[in-house]
Amino acid sequence: MYIVMVTAECAPVAKVGGLADVVYGLAHELEIRGNDVEIILPKYDCMRHDQIYGMQKIFNDLWVPFYDRRIHCSVFFGFVHGRKCFFIEPHSEKNFFNRGVYYGHQDDPERFTFFSRAALEFMFKTGKSPDVIHCHDWQTGIVPVLLFDIYKNLGMTHPRVCFTLHNLKHQGVTGGFILNAVGLGRAEHYFHHDRLRDNFYPGAINLMKAGIVYSNFVTTVSPSYAWEIQNTSLSYGLGQTLNTHAQKFGGVLNGIDYDVWNPAIDRHIPHRYAVNTGQEKKYKNKEALRNRLLLRQDYKPIVAYIGRLDHQKGVDLIRDSIFYSLANGCQFVLLGSSPDHGINNYFLSLKRQLNDNPDCHLEIGFDEELSHLIYAGSDMIVLPSLFEPCGLTQMIALKYGTVPVVRATGGLRDTVFDADYSSRPYHERNGYVFNDFNFKGLESALHRAIGMWYAYPQHFRELIVNGMRYDFSWNHPGRHYLNIYEYIRDK
Ligand code: ADP
Repeated sequence: MYIVMVTAECAPVAKVGGLADVVYGLAHELEIRGNDVEIILPKYDCMRHDQIYGMQKIFNDLWVPFYDRRIHCSVFFGFVHGRKCFFIEPHSEKNFFNRGVYYGHQDDPERFTFFSRAALEFMFKTGKSPDVIHCHDWQTGIVPVLLFDIYKNLGMTHPRVCFTLHNLKHQGVTGGFILNAVGLGRAEHYFHHDRLRDNFYPGAINLMKAGIVYSNFVTTVSPSYAWEIQNTSLSYGLGQTLNTHAQKFGGVLNGIDYDVWNPAIDRHIPHRYAVNTGQEKKYKNKEALRNRLLLRQDYKPIVAYIGRLDHQKGVDLIRDSIFYSLANGCQFVLLGSSPDHGINNYFLSLKRQLNDNPDCHLEIGFDEELSHLIYAGSDMIVLPSLFEPCGLTQMIALKYGTVPVVRATGGLRDTVFDADYSSRPYHERNGYVFNDFNFKGLESALHRAIGMWYAYPQHFRELIVNGMRYDFSWNHPGRHYLNIYEYIRDK
Protein backbone atom coordinates (compact mmCIF):
# COMPACT_ATOMS: atom_id res chain seq x y z
CA MET A 1 0.00 0.00 0.00
CA TYR A 2 1.11 3.55 -0.70
CA ILE A 3 0.68 5.89 2.27
CA VAL A 4 1.51 9.59 2.55
CA MET A 5 1.64 11.16 6.01
CA VAL A 6 0.97 14.88 6.15
CA THR A 7 2.17 16.17 9.49
CA ALA A 8 3.61 19.10 11.40
CA GLU A 9 6.10 16.88 13.27
CA CYS A 10 8.31 13.85 12.71
CA ALA A 11 10.99 12.60 15.10
CA PRO A 12 13.78 13.36 15.43
CA VAL A 13 13.93 16.06 12.77
CA ALA A 14 10.98 18.19 13.92
CA LYS A 15 9.82 17.12 17.35
CA VAL A 16 7.82 18.88 20.00
CA GLY A 17 6.14 15.86 21.60
CA GLY A 18 4.66 12.43 21.08
CA LEU A 19 3.11 13.23 17.70
CA ALA A 20 6.61 13.30 16.23
CA ASP A 21 7.49 9.85 17.63
CA VAL A 22 4.21 8.39 16.44
CA VAL A 23 4.67 9.59 12.86
CA TYR A 24 8.21 8.26 12.71
CA GLY A 25 7.44 4.96 14.47
CA LEU A 26 4.29 4.17 12.53
CA ALA A 27 5.92 5.04 9.20
CA HIS A 28 8.86 2.78 10.06
CA GLU A 29 6.59 -0.14 11.01
CA LEU A 30 4.47 0.25 7.87
CA GLU A 31 7.63 0.13 5.76
CA ILE A 32 8.87 -2.98 7.54
CA ARG A 33 5.56 -4.53 6.54
CA GLY A 34 6.30 -3.80 2.88
CA ASN A 35 4.35 -0.59 2.35
CA ASP A 36 5.57 2.53 0.62
CA VAL A 37 5.45 5.46 3.04
CA GLU A 38 6.27 9.12 2.44
CA ILE A 39 6.11 11.95 4.93
CA ILE A 40 5.39 15.58 4.04
CA LEU A 41 6.51 18.27 6.50
CA PRO A 42 7.05 22.01 6.55
CA LYS A 43 10.69 23.00 6.11
CA TYR A 44 11.25 24.70 9.46
CA ASP A 45 14.38 26.75 9.99
CA CYS A 46 14.67 25.30 13.51
CA MET A 47 14.42 21.62 12.59
CA ARG A 48 17.35 19.27 13.18
CA HIS A 49 19.06 19.44 9.79
CA ASP A 50 21.75 17.12 11.14
CA GLN A 51 19.14 14.34 11.27
CA ILE A 52 18.45 14.46 7.51
CA TYR A 53 20.52 12.45 5.11
CA GLY A 54 20.96 13.47 1.47
CA MET A 55 18.79 16.57 1.57
CA GLN A 56 18.26 18.01 -1.91
CA LYS A 57 15.87 20.30 -3.69
CA ILE A 58 13.68 18.17 -5.91
CA PHE A 59 10.97 20.57 -7.00
CA ASN A 60 11.40 24.27 -7.47
CA ASP A 61 8.24 25.28 -9.15
CA LEU A 62 5.38 24.68 -6.80
CA TRP A 63 2.90 27.55 -6.85
CA VAL A 64 0.36 27.18 -4.07
CA PRO A 65 -2.94 29.10 -4.28
CA PHE A 66 -3.41 31.20 -1.16
CA TYR A 67 -5.95 34.00 -0.91
CA ASP A 68 -6.08 35.53 -4.37
CA ARG A 69 -2.48 34.86 -5.30
CA ARG A 70 -0.05 31.98 -5.54
CA ILE A 71 2.88 31.47 -3.20
CA HIS A 72 6.06 30.08 -4.68
CA CYS A 73 7.43 27.02 -2.84
CA SER A 74 10.42 24.74 -3.18
CA VAL A 75 10.25 21.13 -2.10
CA PHE A 76 13.20 19.27 -0.63
CA PHE A 77 13.67 15.56 -0.16
CA GLY A 78 15.81 13.72 2.36
CA PHE A 79 15.97 10.60 4.48
CA VAL A 80 15.29 10.91 8.21
CA HIS A 81 16.82 7.76 9.64
CA GLY A 82 15.63 5.92 6.55
CA ARG A 83 12.18 7.51 6.29
CA LYS A 84 11.40 9.32 3.05
CA CYS A 85 10.57 12.92 3.89
CA PHE A 86 9.55 15.87 1.75
CA PHE A 87 9.94 19.37 3.16
CA ILE A 88 7.92 22.25 1.78
CA GLU A 89 9.53 25.66 1.84
CA PRO A 90 7.35 28.64 0.97
CA HIS A 91 9.02 31.80 -0.34
CA SER A 92 6.77 34.45 1.04
CA GLU A 93 7.21 37.57 3.09
CA LYS A 94 5.12 35.89 5.81
CA ASN A 95 8.03 33.63 6.65
CA PHE A 96 5.67 30.89 7.75
CA PHE A 97 8.29 28.38 8.85
CA ASN A 98 11.33 30.56 9.51
CA ARG A 99 10.51 31.73 12.98
CA GLY A 100 12.82 29.73 15.19
CA VAL A 101 9.95 27.75 16.76
CA TYR A 102 7.44 25.18 15.57
CA TYR A 103 4.29 26.60 17.14
CA GLY A 104 3.14 29.52 19.20
CA HIS A 105 2.33 32.25 16.71
CA GLN A 106 -0.99 33.95 16.32
CA ASP A 107 -1.22 32.96 12.70
CA ASP A 108 -0.57 29.23 13.38
CA PRO A 109 -3.91 28.29 11.75
CA GLU A 110 -2.89 30.23 8.65
CA ARG A 111 0.60 28.72 8.62
CA PHE A 112 -0.65 25.15 8.82
CA THR A 113 -3.65 25.47 6.52
CA PHE A 114 -1.20 26.89 3.99
CA PHE A 115 1.03 23.87 4.57
CA SER A 116 -1.99 21.53 4.13
CA ARG A 117 -2.90 23.13 0.84
CA ALA A 118 0.75 23.06 -0.27
CA ALA A 119 1.07 19.34 0.56
CA LEU A 120 -1.94 18.51 -1.59
CA GLU A 121 -0.81 20.80 -4.39
CA PHE A 122 2.56 19.04 -4.33
CA MET A 123 0.93 15.60 -4.52
CA PHE A 124 -1.31 16.79 -7.32
CA LYS A 125 1.45 18.42 -9.36
CA THR A 126 3.77 15.45 -9.04
CA GLY A 127 1.03 12.94 -9.86
CA LYS A 128 1.17 11.16 -6.53
CA SER A 129 -1.81 8.95 -5.95
CA PRO A 130 -1.50 7.39 -2.49
CA ASP A 131 -4.02 4.84 -1.31
CA VAL A 132 -4.19 6.63 2.01
CA ILE A 133 -3.29 10.11 3.18
CA HIS A 134 -2.76 9.95 6.93
CA CYS A 135 -3.17 13.33 8.64
CA HIS A 136 -2.44 14.23 12.23
CA ASP A 137 -4.09 16.75 14.55
CA TRP A 138 -5.64 20.12 13.75
CA GLN A 139 -2.64 21.35 11.78
CA THR A 140 -3.66 19.06 8.92
CA GLY A 141 -7.40 18.78 9.63
CA ILE A 142 -8.28 20.79 6.52
CA VAL A 143 -6.55 18.25 4.22
CA PRO A 144 -9.60 15.97 3.71
CA VAL A 145 -11.82 18.99 3.05
CA LEU A 146 -9.43 20.25 0.39
CA LEU A 147 -8.99 16.76 -1.04
CA PHE A 148 -12.66 15.96 -1.38
CA ASP A 149 -13.93 19.43 -2.31
CA ILE A 150 -11.13 20.67 -4.57
CA TYR A 151 -8.58 18.05 -5.60
CA LYS A 152 -11.08 15.28 -6.23
CA ASN A 153 -12.66 17.46 -8.90
CA LEU A 154 -9.24 17.88 -10.44
CA GLY A 155 -8.82 14.12 -10.72
CA MET A 156 -7.42 13.02 -7.34
CA THR A 157 -10.20 10.51 -6.81
CA HIS A 158 -8.17 7.64 -5.41
CA PRO A 159 -6.81 8.62 -1.96
CA ARG A 160 -8.75 8.01 1.24
CA VAL A 161 -7.98 9.90 4.42
CA CYS A 162 -7.22 8.60 7.89
CA PHE A 163 -7.06 11.29 10.57
CA THR A 164 -5.50 10.81 14.00
CA LEU A 165 -6.38 12.91 17.04
CA HIS A 166 -3.32 13.20 19.28
CA ASN A 167 -4.69 15.81 21.67
CA LEU A 168 -8.13 17.39 21.61
CA LYS A 169 -7.09 20.30 23.78
CA HIS A 170 -5.65 22.02 20.72
CA GLN A 171 -8.19 22.25 17.94
CA GLY A 172 -7.18 25.06 15.62
CA VAL A 173 -10.21 27.26 16.20
CA THR A 174 -9.94 30.17 13.81
CA GLY A 175 -11.81 32.71 11.72
CA GLY A 176 -13.69 32.01 8.51
CA PHE A 177 -11.05 33.93 6.54
CA ILE A 178 -9.07 30.67 6.47
CA LEU A 179 -11.65 29.19 4.09
CA ASN A 180 -11.02 32.00 1.70
CA ALA A 181 -7.26 31.65 2.15
CA VAL A 182 -7.15 27.99 1.12
CA GLY A 183 -9.62 28.36 -1.72
CA LEU A 184 -12.77 26.96 -0.13
CA GLY A 185 -15.48 29.42 -1.18
CA ARG A 186 -19.08 28.92 -0.06
CA ALA A 187 -18.51 30.07 3.52
CA GLU A 188 -22.18 29.47 4.38
CA HIS A 189 -21.77 25.82 3.36
CA TYR A 190 -18.84 25.24 5.70
CA PHE A 191 -20.22 27.36 8.53
CA HIS A 192 -22.70 24.64 9.33
CA HIS A 193 -22.90 22.72 12.58
CA ASP A 194 -22.49 19.44 10.68
CA ARG A 195 -19.35 20.65 8.97
CA LEU A 196 -16.63 23.07 10.17
CA ARG A 197 -18.44 25.45 12.48
CA ASP A 198 -16.97 25.39 15.97
CA ASN A 199 -19.29 23.83 18.53
CA PHE A 200 -18.71 26.72 21.00
CA TYR A 201 -18.11 29.77 18.84
CA PRO A 202 -20.61 29.98 16.01
CA GLY A 203 -18.48 32.64 14.33
CA ALA A 204 -15.40 30.41 14.12
CA ILE A 205 -14.35 27.31 12.25
CA ASN A 206 -12.62 24.38 13.88
CA LEU A 207 -9.85 22.62 11.98
CA MET A 208 -9.84 19.52 14.20
CA LYS A 209 -13.57 19.16 13.61
CA ALA A 210 -12.93 19.50 9.87
CA GLY A 211 -10.66 16.47 10.02
CA ILE A 212 -13.19 14.46 12.03
CA VAL A 213 -16.13 15.25 9.79
CA TYR A 214 -14.43 14.84 6.41
CA SER A 215 -11.98 11.96 6.90
CA ASN A 216 -12.86 8.40 5.98
CA PHE A 217 -11.64 7.14 9.34
CA VAL A 218 -10.67 8.86 12.57
CA THR A 219 -8.46 7.35 15.23
CA THR A 220 -7.13 8.49 18.53
CA VAL A 221 -4.13 7.25 20.40
CA SER A 222 -5.53 4.95 23.08
CA PRO A 223 -8.82 3.13 23.77
CA SER A 224 -9.33 4.88 27.12
CA TYR A 225 -8.84 8.32 25.60
CA ALA A 226 -11.28 7.36 22.81
CA TRP A 227 -13.86 6.65 25.50
CA GLU A 228 -13.02 9.77 27.51
CA ILE A 229 -13.40 12.13 24.57
CA GLN A 230 -16.74 10.63 23.63
CA ASN A 231 -18.11 10.70 27.15
CA THR A 232 -16.41 13.40 29.25
CA SER A 233 -15.39 17.04 29.11
CA LEU A 234 -11.93 15.98 27.92
CA SER A 235 -13.32 16.32 24.39
CA TYR A 236 -13.17 20.11 24.84
CA GLY A 237 -16.46 20.43 23.00
CA LEU A 238 -15.99 17.83 20.26
CA GLY A 239 -17.68 14.89 22.02
CA GLN A 240 -20.94 15.35 20.17
CA THR A 241 -19.13 15.46 16.83
CA LEU A 242 -17.28 12.27 17.72
CA ASN A 243 -20.50 10.56 18.73
CA THR A 244 -22.10 11.57 15.44
CA HIS A 245 -19.17 9.96 13.63
CA ALA A 246 -18.75 7.05 16.04
CA GLN A 247 -19.05 4.44 13.28
CA LYS A 248 -15.76 5.61 11.76
CA PHE A 249 -13.91 6.29 15.01
CA GLY A 250 -11.71 4.15 17.26
CA GLY A 251 -8.74 4.18 19.64
CA VAL A 252 -5.46 2.51 18.68
CA LEU A 253 -2.81 2.48 21.39
CA ASN A 254 0.41 4.05 20.10
CA GLY A 255 3.56 2.02 20.00
CA ILE A 256 7.14 3.05 20.55
CA ASP A 257 9.98 2.42 18.17
CA TYR A 258 12.25 -0.17 19.75
CA ASP A 259 15.00 0.70 17.27
CA VAL A 260 15.14 4.08 18.98
CA TRP A 261 13.95 3.29 22.50
CA ASN A 262 15.73 0.13 23.50
CA PRO A 263 18.35 -0.05 26.26
CA ALA A 264 19.94 -3.08 24.56
CA ILE A 265 21.08 -1.03 21.53
CA ASP A 266 20.81 2.59 22.68
CA ARG A 267 23.82 4.64 21.51
CA HIS A 268 23.03 7.45 23.94
CA ILE A 269 23.63 5.43 27.10
CA PRO A 270 27.04 4.22 28.30
CA HIS A 271 25.92 0.76 29.48
CA ARG A 272 23.50 -1.28 27.38
CA TYR A 273 21.18 -3.75 29.06
CA ALA A 274 18.10 -5.88 28.62
CA VAL A 275 15.66 -7.78 30.77
CA ASN A 276 17.96 -10.80 30.99
CA THR A 277 21.26 -8.99 31.64
CA GLY A 278 20.53 -8.21 35.29
CA GLN A 279 20.19 -4.92 37.08
CA GLU A 280 23.87 -4.02 37.43
CA LYS A 281 24.10 -2.35 34.02
CA LYS A 282 21.08 -0.23 34.80
CA TYR A 283 22.76 0.88 38.01
CA LYS A 284 25.91 1.78 36.05
CA ASN A 285 23.74 4.11 33.98
CA LYS A 286 22.39 5.52 37.22
CA GLU A 287 25.95 6.26 38.26
CA ALA A 288 26.63 7.87 34.88
CA LEU A 289 23.50 9.99 35.16
CA ARG A 290 24.58 11.18 38.58
CA ASN A 291 28.03 12.04 37.30
CA ARG A 292 26.64 13.93 34.35
CA LEU A 293 24.20 15.95 36.45
CA LEU A 294 26.53 16.34 39.45
CA LEU A 295 24.25 14.46 41.83
CA ARG A 296 25.82 12.71 44.77
CA GLN A 297 26.31 8.94 44.67
CA ASP A 298 24.16 7.60 47.45
CA TYR A 299 21.85 4.69 48.27
CA LYS A 300 18.68 6.42 47.09
CA PRO A 301 16.21 5.97 44.25
CA ILE A 302 16.12 8.54 41.46
CA VAL A 303 12.65 9.79 40.61
CA ALA A 304 12.39 11.51 37.23
CA TYR A 305 10.06 13.61 35.17
CA ILE A 306 10.55 14.00 31.40
CA GLY A 307 8.08 15.94 29.32
CA ARG A 308 6.43 19.17 28.40
CA LEU A 309 5.72 21.43 31.35
CA ASP A 310 2.09 22.06 30.62
CA HIS A 311 -1.11 22.23 32.66
CA GLN A 312 -2.12 18.99 30.95
CA LYS A 313 0.87 17.31 32.58
CA GLY A 314 -0.08 18.53 36.05
CA VAL A 315 2.57 21.21 36.67
CA ASP A 316 1.60 21.69 40.31
CA LEU A 317 1.81 17.97 40.95
CA ILE A 318 5.17 17.80 39.17
CA ARG A 319 6.42 20.45 41.59
CA ASP A 320 4.87 18.53 44.50
CA SER A 321 6.56 15.33 43.41
CA ILE A 322 9.96 17.08 43.43
CA PHE A 323 9.57 18.19 47.04
CA TYR A 324 7.87 15.00 48.18
CA SER A 325 10.64 12.86 46.68
CA LEU A 326 13.42 14.98 48.18
CA ALA A 327 11.76 14.87 51.58
CA ASN A 328 11.34 11.11 51.41
CA GLY A 329 14.82 9.84 50.71
CA CYS A 330 14.96 10.21 46.91
CA GLN A 331 16.85 12.16 44.32
CA PHE A 332 14.91 13.99 41.62
CA VAL A 333 15.74 14.73 37.98
CA LEU A 334 13.54 16.81 35.72
CA LEU A 335 13.91 17.40 31.99
CA GLY A 336 11.23 19.60 30.54
CA SER A 337 10.29 22.87 28.95
CA SER A 338 7.27 24.92 28.13
CA PRO A 339 6.43 27.44 25.44
CA ASP A 340 4.59 29.30 28.22
CA HIS A 341 7.08 31.79 29.67
CA GLY A 342 5.25 31.88 33.02
CA ILE A 343 5.62 28.12 33.53
CA ASN A 344 9.19 28.10 32.25
CA ASN A 345 10.18 30.92 34.57
CA TYR A 346 8.49 29.21 37.48
CA PHE A 347 10.59 26.07 36.96
CA LEU A 348 13.70 28.18 36.41
CA SER A 349 13.12 29.79 39.79
CA LEU A 350 12.66 26.33 41.35
CA LYS A 351 15.92 25.35 39.71
CA ARG A 352 17.69 28.31 41.32
CA GLN A 353 16.09 27.48 44.66
CA LEU A 354 17.32 23.86 44.46
CA ASN A 355 20.62 24.59 42.79
CA ASP A 356 22.80 23.64 45.74
CA ASN A 357 20.88 20.48 46.53
CA PRO A 358 23.10 17.51 45.62
CA ASP A 359 20.01 15.32 45.25
CA CYS A 360 18.21 17.34 42.63
CA HIS A 361 18.72 18.48 39.07
CA LEU A 362 16.20 20.39 36.97
CA GLU A 363 17.08 20.72 33.29
CA ILE A 364 14.85 23.27 31.62
CA GLY A 365 15.08 22.67 27.90
CA PHE A 366 14.68 20.01 25.24
CA ASP A 367 17.44 17.43 25.05
CA GLU A 368 16.70 14.17 23.26
CA GLU A 369 20.09 12.59 24.07
CA LEU A 370 19.90 13.39 27.78
CA SER A 371 16.38 11.97 27.91
CA HIS A 372 17.77 8.53 27.00
CA LEU A 373 20.23 8.60 29.90
CA ILE A 374 17.49 9.71 32.32
CA TYR A 375 15.20 6.87 31.20
CA ALA A 376 18.08 4.42 31.70
CA GLY A 377 19.44 5.82 34.95
CA SER A 378 16.26 6.51 36.94
CA ASP A 379 14.33 4.17 39.19
CA MET A 380 10.89 5.76 38.83
CA ILE A 381 9.19 8.25 36.58
CA VAL A 382 6.20 10.36 37.62
CA LEU A 383 3.36 11.31 35.29
CA PRO A 384 0.65 13.09 37.25
CA SER A 385 -1.28 14.16 34.14
CA LEU A 386 -4.67 15.82 34.20
CA PHE A 387 -5.27 13.96 30.96
CA GLU A 388 -2.99 11.96 28.71
CA PRO A 389 -4.20 10.87 25.26
CA CYS A 390 -1.60 8.10 25.12
CA GLY A 391 1.69 9.11 26.70
CA LEU A 392 4.88 7.64 25.33
CA THR A 393 6.99 8.49 28.33
CA GLN A 394 5.63 5.68 30.49
CA MET A 395 6.03 3.13 27.69
CA ILE A 396 9.63 4.20 27.10
CA ALA A 397 10.26 4.13 30.86
CA LEU A 398 8.87 0.58 31.11
CA LYS A 399 11.26 -0.59 28.39
CA TYR A 400 14.17 0.96 30.32
CA GLY A 401 13.15 -0.69 33.58
CA THR A 402 12.02 2.56 35.15
CA VAL A 403 8.86 2.12 37.16
CA PRO A 404 6.05 4.56 36.23
CA VAL A 405 3.98 6.32 38.88
CA VAL A 406 1.00 7.69 36.99
CA ARG A 407 -2.47 9.10 37.26
CA ALA A 408 -5.20 6.83 35.86
CA THR A 409 -6.18 8.66 32.68
CA GLY A 410 -6.16 7.95 28.94
CA GLY A 411 -3.24 5.89 27.70
CA LEU A 412 -1.67 5.82 31.16
CA ARG A 413 -4.66 3.77 32.29
CA ASP A 414 -4.16 1.39 29.34
CA THR A 415 -0.47 0.74 29.94
CA VAL A 416 0.34 0.99 33.66
CA PHE A 417 -1.10 -1.55 36.09
CA ASP A 418 -0.87 -0.95 39.81
CA ALA A 419 1.43 -3.17 41.87
CA ASP A 420 -1.10 -3.43 44.70
CA TYR A 421 -4.56 -2.80 43.34
CA SER A 422 -4.68 -3.86 39.70
CA SER A 423 -7.08 -6.63 38.73
CA ARG A 424 -4.34 -8.01 36.49
CA PRO A 425 -2.25 -11.03 37.55
CA TYR A 426 0.93 -10.21 39.45
CA HIS A 427 3.26 -10.84 36.51
CA GLU A 428 1.46 -8.13 34.51
CA ARG A 429 1.68 -5.42 37.16
CA ASN A 430 4.27 -2.83 36.29
CA GLY A 431 3.84 0.43 38.23
CA TYR A 432 1.82 2.61 40.56
CA VAL A 433 -1.44 4.32 39.72
CA PHE A 434 -3.54 6.97 41.44
CA ASN A 435 -6.94 8.40 40.63
CA ASP A 436 -7.38 11.79 42.24
CA PHE A 437 -5.78 14.74 40.52
CA ASN A 438 -4.39 16.29 43.70
CA PHE A 439 -1.47 16.01 46.10
CA LYS A 440 -3.13 13.31 48.19
CA GLY A 441 -3.61 11.18 45.11
CA LEU A 442 -0.01 11.62 44.00
CA GLU A 443 1.28 10.93 47.50
CA SER A 444 -0.76 7.74 47.78
CA ALA A 445 1.14 6.25 44.84
CA LEU A 446 4.59 7.81 45.30
CA HIS A 447 4.62 6.79 48.95
CA ARG A 448 3.96 3.15 48.02
CA ALA A 449 6.57 3.18 45.24
CA ILE A 450 9.32 4.65 47.42
CA GLY A 451 8.37 2.36 50.30
CA MET A 452 8.64 -0.67 48.05
CA TRP A 453 12.05 0.43 46.71
CA TYR A 454 13.48 0.66 50.22
CA ALA A 455 11.66 -2.14 52.04
CA TYR A 456 11.15 -4.81 49.35
CA PRO A 457 13.80 -4.35 46.67
CA GLN A 458 13.11 -7.84 45.36
CA HIS A 459 9.45 -6.99 44.71
CA PHE A 460 10.48 -3.71 43.15
CA ARG A 461 12.77 -5.64 40.82
CA GLU A 462 9.88 -7.88 39.82
CA LEU A 463 7.93 -4.80 38.78
CA ILE A 464 10.90 -3.68 36.70
CA VAL A 465 11.11 -7.03 34.97
CA ASN A 466 7.36 -7.17 34.35
CA GLY A 467 7.53 -3.74 32.74
CA MET A 468 10.52 -4.58 30.54
CA ARG A 469 8.75 -7.69 29.27
CA TYR A 470 5.77 -5.81 27.84
CA ASP A 471 5.61 -5.44 24.08
CA PHE A 472 4.66 -1.86 23.33
CA SER A 473 6.33 -1.95 19.93
CA TRP A 474 4.55 -0.81 16.76
CA ASN A 475 3.90 -4.42 15.84
CA HIS A 476 0.28 -4.51 17.05
CA PRO A 477 -0.71 -0.93 16.26
CA GLY A 478 0.96 -1.24 12.83
CA ARG A 479 -1.29 -4.19 12.00
CA HIS A 480 -4.26 -2.29 13.34
CA TYR A 481 -3.59 0.76 11.16
CA LEU A 482 -3.16 -1.41 8.08
CA ASN A 483 -6.57 -2.96 8.75
CA ILE A 484 -8.04 0.53 8.94
CA TYR A 485 -6.32 1.59 5.70
CA GLU A 486 -7.55 -1.54 3.94
CA TYR A 487 -11.06 -0.98 5.27
CA ILE A 488 -11.29 2.59 3.95
CA ARG A 489 -9.55 1.80 0.69
CA ASP A 490 -12.15 -0.83 -0.15
CA LYS A 491 -15.10 1.42 0.63
P1 ADP B 1 3.22 14.78 24.57
O1 ADP B 1 3.01 14.36 23.16
O2 ADP B 1 1.96 15.18 25.27
O3 ADP B 1 4.28 15.83 24.70
P2 ADP B 1 4.15 12.06 25.03
O4 ADP B 1 4.40 11.31 26.29
O5 ADP B 1 3.20 11.47 24.06
O6 ADP B 1 3.77 13.55 25.42
O7 ADP B 1 5.54 12.22 24.25
C1 ADP B 1 6.60 12.88 24.82
C2 ADP B 1 7.85 12.58 24.02
O8 ADP B 1 8.67 13.75 24.00
C3 ADP B 1 8.68 11.50 24.65
O9 ADP B 1 9.45 10.87 23.63
C4 ADP B 1 9.60 12.30 25.59
O10 ADP B 1 10.80 11.60 25.89
C5 ADP B 1 9.88 13.52 24.74
N1 ADP B 1 10.16 14.75 25.48
C6 ADP B 1 9.28 15.58 26.06
N2 ADP B 1 9.89 16.63 26.61
C7 ADP B 1 11.22 16.47 26.38
C8 ADP B 1 12.39 17.24 26.69
N3 ADP B 1 12.31 18.37 27.37
N4 ADP B 1 13.58 16.77 26.27
C9 ADP B 1 13.65 15.61 25.58
N5 ADP B 1 12.59 14.84 25.25
C10 ADP B 1 11.39 15.26 25.64
